[in-house]
Amino acid sequence: MPDQRTWVGQIPNKDMALAAPKRKQRRAKDLYLLVLLAGVGGLVFYGMRENLRDGRLTRGKSALLTFEQVSAEGRKTIPGKGFERQLFWRIGGDELGFDLAQWDSYLRSGAQYLAIPLTESKDVTLAIDHVWERGPKTHTLLAREPGRRHSGAILVVHDGAVAGSIFFLDENRHFQLRSAGPGRVTIREADPSDQRLDCGIVSNRNDRVPISGPVVPLVVGYDAAARTSAGGVAGIEAMILASVDGLNLALKNSEVEMSMRLVATVEAAGLEELEQWRSRQEGTMGVWVTGNRRVPASTEVLLACRLADMGAPKHGMIHHWGHFMGAGHAADDVGQWEGEAHAWRFRSPTGVRLSTIMAQEASWGPRILWFSDPQLSFQGVPIGRSQGVQGRTRTADPALQQRHAADPEWSAANATVLRALTKS
Ligand SMILES: [Zn+2]
Repeated sequence: MPDQRTWVGQIPNKDMALAAPKRKQRRAKDLYLLVLLAGVGGLVFYGMRENLRDGRLTRGKSALLTFEQVSAEGRKTIPGKGFERQLFWRIGGDELGFDLAQWDSYLRSGAQYLAIPLTESKDVTLAIDHVWERGPKTHTLLAREPGRRHSGAILVVHDGAVAGSIFFLDENRHFQLRSAGPGRVTIREADPSDQRLDCGIVSNRNDRVPISGPVVPLVVGYDAAARTSAGGVAGIEAMILASVDGLNLALKNSEVEMSMRLVATVEAAGLEELEQWRSRQEGTMGVWVTGNRRVPASTEVLLACRLADMGAPKHGMIHHWGHFMGAGHAADDVGQWEGEAHAWRFRSPTGVRLSTIMAQEASWGPRILWFSDPQLSFQGVPIGRSQGVQGRTRTADPALQQRHAADPEWSAANATVLRALTKS
């Protein structure tokens, strides 16, 4: 069985996460963490109201889809088991066929492996580590390429639509999947040099975001342009689910005891209409996804994101959410964000240049689904700098080394800011 620690999404295996002596100072909380994971492990697993008709989901007025919480992880995989049928095949160009009729059989089979053609000449066989389930028609798969230390995938299969990302951080290659209608998928390789996000769209409003506990309810609205680009209603919902689960994964990885609970998606004509949907449920946070190039200014409780920025390598919704909660860019990033703590750029043990989710320097390396914190490590490398360790930097970035030398009190701990929110 492949070593699960090779997967870049490391944390969701709770046994492994607890076994790894990652903390330096917070060991006293390990028992609490164990209880938390065992007792409310379902916080990130949500159920969807089973409004099924003819095997497809049905939606109410304005395409409102609601989700409810479930208490268990989805289907278990049988290590090493493959599937006899081909689920994805190349149609031509950047389009794949997806055998929706075989999908339920695949889930029931317990197969760990799933083959997907990436390009004309390259297929990948993914090993599924976890399946998060929101009812019979909605599954999120967390996967990686076996034996490949810097690979990962988040795939959502939802009501016939497929969306998500497959990424190889060591090569800085990122493939995005979008629905092209039932049984059809578009797969495109993202431009790895294009990782800059327009971060002027939200302001630091962490004092106004309605956080009242470890589970933050979300209503995600989208416009017609986003729905069209995403391949339809199920397609945009699948893309939203992939981003929400990516955010939840980043929070788990970063040991932030908070999770986002998607309570509804809704097509709305604009921010005002989304705000009306959101305000019906007190304490709900709103996220606006637009297919347009320009993102409208957000209101106090709405966070906005362009559809094109949502998957790897940009992870736009997760990054913007971090700003919304008070997390900033790395200290010397171009276009520095005035957050309360800094992101981090570093090299993996094998020399791969990587960035935590809030870093914003396209020429350095791709983002990982971690918030910076010197108490945490990614493949053995701390992903932040401890305060007051003057002259002992842990980064290969010369600019960051200079920064450390000039300011010993400077720190990198986006995750600390997020943890503090759950305590307030
Ligand atoms: Zn930013």
